[in-house]
Amino acid sequence: MKDHGEAQAIETAALYVVATPLGNLGDITLRALDVLKGVDAVACEDTRHTRRLLDHYGIQGKALALHEHNEAEAAQKLIRLLREGKAVALVSDAGTPGVSDPGARAVAAVREAGFDIVPVPGPNAAIAALSVSGASEPHFLFYGFLPSKAAARRKAIEELKPLPHALVFYEAPHRIVETIADLAVCLEPQRRIVIARELTKVYESIVSLPLADAPAWLAADENRQRGEFVLIVSAAPAAEGVSAEGGRVLSLLLAELPLKQAVKLAAEISGESRNALYDLALAQKDSTGGRV
Ligand code: SAM
Repeated sequence: MKDHGEAQAIETAALYVVATPLGNLGDITLRALDVLKGVDAVACEDTRHTRRLLDHYGIQGKALALHEHNEAEAAQKLIRLLREGKAVALVSDAGTPGVSDPGARAVAAVREAGFDIVPVPGPNAAIAALSVSGASEPHFLFYGFLPSKAAARRKAIEELKPLPHALVFYEAPHRIVETIADLAVCLEPQRRIVIARELTKVYESIVSLPLADAPAWLAADENRQRGEFVLIVSAAPAAEGVSAEGGRVLSLLLAELPLKQAVKLAAEISGESRNALYDLALAQKDSTGGRV
């Protein structure tokens, strides 16, 4: 039973996917607390980490481990509990489970087994960072973590380069320097980057600067390299005479067709100047080393 009143009765034989704080323990919804109190078990990435949250709110026992190394096996355990009529919550270490976090496979297995899955929304690092970024693009692309190997990371950035959307990345402290260096090398220097660090925690910092300045800003103080990061890079600058939509149509066609044909079709579809689209196509070709 789902009710929209203040207190929520816990549905038996259901999996609740519960968002938890990113740092500040106060960032948890009343409904999330009701659910965590009411369920029979809480599946979590790191039982010690989640126990701190449960202890803080006086919620006893019931943590069981579900992390990327045991997700398939743990999902079967969840299904057994659900078959016994138990209610179970799924949480990750921080934020919303299944978003760059374990949980998606377990959710799919539980759905396949025929049980209800109930979202209990709350914190998410990408959305928190977007909310304070001032990014005015109508659309954003959530990428999550870029590849850890340099060549794959640069290739991924090059593929994202022409998109007319704000780009949202997650990054960990041990790779922040390399990732920001690669973004600065591969993307247009005038694009802006918002570096949102340690959101909701003691050392929270949010800065916005031209991408070209970001590596030096980061290098100037080692403390700026510590903690957890969300990076938001502004959309590809519109080429002179080409709208963001025209650029998007061109990028899609360039991925499939030879340059001239892509330009011709992009001009017909978007109604934009063929010359301007041609210049943009050449610029994209240069920036991707010919892989357009
Ligand atoms: N599921 C989480 C969510 O909903 O945002 C994300 C989990 S992912 C494994 C961890 C990454 O999220 C970190 O490396 C960092 O990029 C980002 N993140 C998590 N907490 C953060 C915070 N307090 N400040 C900035 N970024 C954070």
